[in-house]
Amino acid sequence: MNEVQLLFVVLAALYGWECACWLRRGAVAFSTWLGTGWRAWHPDTLVGNQNGGFMLAPPLPPLGTLFVANQFPLSLSTEGVLAFVATNVNPGWRPAQSGRFVSFDDLREARAHGIKVLVNGELLIKCSSAGLARRCVEQLQQLVRLQAPEREAVLAENLRGAFDAAAVDRLRQEFRRRVRAVRGLSNGLLGYGFGVVPAVIWHFGFKSSWLGLLGGLIGLTGATAFCFYRAHRALYPKAEDERFTHTLTILLAPTTAMRAHDALSRPLMEGFHPLTLAKVLLPENDFREFARRVLLDLRQPALPFCPNDSPAASETERLARGALQSEAEKFLKAAGIESDQLCRPPLPADETCRAYCPRCQAQFTTAEGTCADCGGLARKPFGPTG
Ligand SMILES: [Zn+2]
Repeated sequence: MNEVQLLFVVLAALYGWECACWLRRGAVAFSTWLGTGWRAWHPDTLVGNQNGGFMLAPPLPPLGTLFVANQFPLSLSTEGVLAFVATNVNPGWRPAQSGRFVSFDDLREARAHGIKVLVNGELLIKCSSAGLARRCVEQLQQLVRLQAPEREAVLAENLRGAFDAAAVDRLRQEFRRRVRAVRGLSNGLLGYGFGVVPAVIWHFGFKSSWLGLLGGLIGLTGATAFCFYRAHRALYPKAEDERFTHTLTILLAPTTAMRAHDALSRPLMEGFHPLTLAKVLLPENDFREFARRVLLDLRQPALPFCPNDSPAASETERLARGALQSEAEKFLKAAGIESDQLCRPPLPADETCRAYCPRCQAQFTTAEGTCADCGGLARKPFGPTG
């Protein structure tokens, strides 16, 4: 392998790395290649660790679209904030959470530092993105200024916002409009880097063509960075720091410029509950399956419900989970799905099955005992006709 070939191998490896997307637990990615068929990705299905896993964005033109939705990472009540959420939109284990509780009476200051949320100068939670950390801080700052009865209305309104399917649709339309130029340039850059450049070098030789090729590369990455900056400013007006970092990286790294549209799409839907994106994007059957697992977990999360022994923390967890479940069931009803019907018990897989787990639906040959995968939830026996 000569040096030019080695250069392309390195370029391809770097591009592959750019396609890899780290998903923190508590998040669900929704991706499409040609813009029609969407599928959901959880961090547990891929290479990863206890905090998350990788997924691969569609690597070939037209480079696809990737949105990431998050469950809100804090439990909020009118009394305080708990850095723990018992429910889990992903199959399997929960993300690591501190369980720290701060009452609003004691909350003096909340601020974001990158992906960290700091309360009274100490770490409350690490979010999956700087945007989500900012959202958490904005909510805390808003709630702490209000009296308890007013907080109730704000909490309900914020929760409704996470299930606003019409807002997802509007944002998606706007994204399509804003990303058009960036997507065109990213695709062009991919074709240029992996098609035009090798063909020209093969035909004319490296020495006589490198300067012209380099000029083309600089022109394309510069145009991508410019269009990215404009689209980012329109879609994320408050994210100046991220805009500066992304634009600079796109200018300096052609493989990052080839995936510039991902940096525009990934955080766009992070304020919505994954159920909302599943409704808008997934085919009906996939949505029902997705909704069933989310709702089973909401109704019966894995144990423990709260790792913090303080009564105020447990109460905040209970109230926040109750509000989330009620909003999710209302959302499903509006989508024509009856929650009780969706969560009906499974049929026994064979005649030896005596019980099932109410959360993960694993089946057992003995009725007594618990489900270890769900933190020790009691098994439920099948009915006499089951
Ligand atoms: Zn289970």
